[in-house]
Amino acid sequence: MAQISINIKEGTISKPDIIVGIDLGTTNSLVAIINKAGMPEALCDADKTAIVPSIVHFGKEGAITVGNSARQHLIDDTANTIYSVKRLMGKSYNDIAAIQQHLGYKIIDDNSESLVKIKVGEKFYSPIELSAFILRELKLRAEHVLQQQITKAVITVPAYFNDAQRQATRDAGKLAGLDVLRIINEPTAASLAYGLGNVKNAQTIAVYDLGGGTFDISILQLTPSENDGGYFEVLATNGNTFLGGDDFDRLIVEHWLQTNNIAADTVDKQLMQTLRLKAETAKKHLSTNDIFEDKINDIVCRLSVNEFETLITPLVNETIVCCKNALRDAGLKIGDIDTIVMVGGSTRTPFVKKSMTEFFNKPVNDSLNPDEVVALGAGIQADILAGNQKDMLLLDITPLSLGIETMGGLMDVIIPRNTKIPTGAGRQYTTSVDGQSKLLIAVYQGERDLVSHNRKLAEFTLSNIPGMPAGLPKIEIVFQLNADGILQVKAKELRSGVEQSIEVKPQYGLTEEEMGGMLLESIKNAKTDMEQRAIIEARVEAQNMLDTCERFIVKNAAHLSAKEISGTRELMVALQNTLNSSDKNVIQQHIEALNEFTRPFAERLMDMAISMAMKGKTL
Ligand code: ADP
Ligand code: MG
Repeated sequence: MAQISINIKEGTISKPDIIVGIDLGTTNSLVAIINKAGMPEALCDADKTAIVPSIVHFGKEGAITVGNSARQHLIDDTANTIYSVKRLMGKSYNDIAAIQQHLGYKIIDDNSESLVKIKVGEKFYSPIELSAFILRELKLRAEHVLQQQITKAVITVPAYFNDAQRQATRDAGKLAGLDVLRIINEPTAASLAYGLGNVKNAQTIAVYDLGGGTFDISILQLTPSENDGGYFEVLATNGNTFLGGDDFDRLIVEHWLQTNNIAADTVDKQLMQTLRLKAETAKKHLSTNDIFEDKINDIVCRLSVNEFETLITPLVNETIVCCKNALRDAGLKIGDIDTIVMVGGSTRTPFVKKSMTEFFNKPVNDSLNPDEVVALGAGIQADILAGNQKDMLLLDITPLSLGIETMGGLMDVIIPRNTKIPTGAGRQYTTSVDGQSKLLIAVYQGERDLVSHNRKLAEFTLSNIPGMPAGLPKIEIVFQLNADGILQVKAKELRSGVEQSIEVKPQYGLTEEEMGGMLLESIKNAKTDMEQRAIIEARVEAQNMLDTCERFIVKNAAHLSAKEISGTRELMVALQNTLNSSDKNVIQQHIEALNEFTRPFAERLMDMAISMAMKGKTL
């Protein structure tokens, strides 16, 4: 469909907006569009290369360079050359303290809860600002190639990115002068690039993405739809955020040091970087040749394909374990996978492809450039959003359960983990104290029964609840999770209409390991968690019972005998004494006893109340 827009005031015709697709990678970034021939195309620079290394260099006179020219400074100006900033997106210092050692630059901790900053010279930059430099470079490239202003983009993120990381990516786009229309998952984008959005039959797709520093395996379900293309759903994700082509390079360097009899701790930083870059050259060479031979000074850099494959076998095996875990989480067997998609520069290594073909027992999709496919898919999604293609709904899942804290510190799940997003869910609550005018709503993420074991995302207070007896207010709490994974929580007291809402943008994010760790903990602790939940529930019930009895006795003293009152009081004290017991049965028995004792006169009074009410009514 062709479109033109006419500026009525100036009488000029402007070109239609082009929305670009961007793969903002840990190692490399790219920008892609749908070209005039209707084909996805990654945009190249004058040297005909599409890949922009995700590296930012801060020069002496404030000159900032991005990409290949910045890459050279990894050797000669380490402290001012920033790479892998994607790892820091949406993270606090606490989140990344453990990885500081892997980075050549300085990460600053001013407050453990706040987002990290990176110190370059005398200035501090946030990961959002640094990513914005990369995005600005991609924007400029697109503007140069297309000869028009670019202001809109679709950006991809890993499927496991949480709210904070997605929001940070969006903010980086904004800072770079881009209106980010959609954040989509990398595996979904890769599947789109392989045309899987237009197939006729339902498909289960495994997307194997081995990049520079990270490995992700995602299992997607594609459901075709008659009218509006198909939709993708992420069934499971797994991986390792510290496994990638860089590790292949590291193993090669270690191999060379060994074969040259050099101790690693005698090698200075600069030589180490030179060796690393040489190792990468060797690795790439070995993707199409059998042997690599070179020298750095008098260090012999020699490697055969066989030696290389032996070196990386443990790493490739590790990716296979992740694949098995993802299949297990999705409840699938290897034979259930219809299509396997290869993504990431490291899948250019023939051994990786071969290992995957063997594992899945099927040929893999590798006809597109693995380092471009995510960007190409983002370009397709951008074109869909521009209205140039039939709309496809892209579904994702939420990786951890979302809920609120209820009485006794228990987690009440509102949106369970693995729910398709966008989604919404709500539940009704009430007050526990007479005349309660405020309710604190604390939002948590995680799988454990006690909120103290989960991650707090936010809290807010619903105030101005009109005074009512405990249990009477009807407080509805609604969770709305949008397509970008941003959560909105609303609380409303239905009788009075008082309401309050917040958007949850967590201050800092979770790493994939932490997320995996949280799930693992929940499985490991399922039994003790359940027991603890039962005890807490019994205690809450006991406390409610005591409160009710107290109110009942005070209110109805005139209609009760002395024996009834003293008997109730005795049982109340007995129940009170069990409150600290860790045996839920003991608490339950005392609740029962109190119940039994009070039932006859509670019923008597109830009958009285009903007959009084009936008298007042004219039937
Ligand atoms: P990311 O998604 O992490 O940004 P990419 O998908 O661009 O990264 O992958 C980068 C990795 O791919 C680097 O480790 C690079 O060395 C590796 N790579 C690129 N080309 C080849 C090749 N021909 N053979 C093997 N590995 C390659
Ligand atoms: Mg990538």
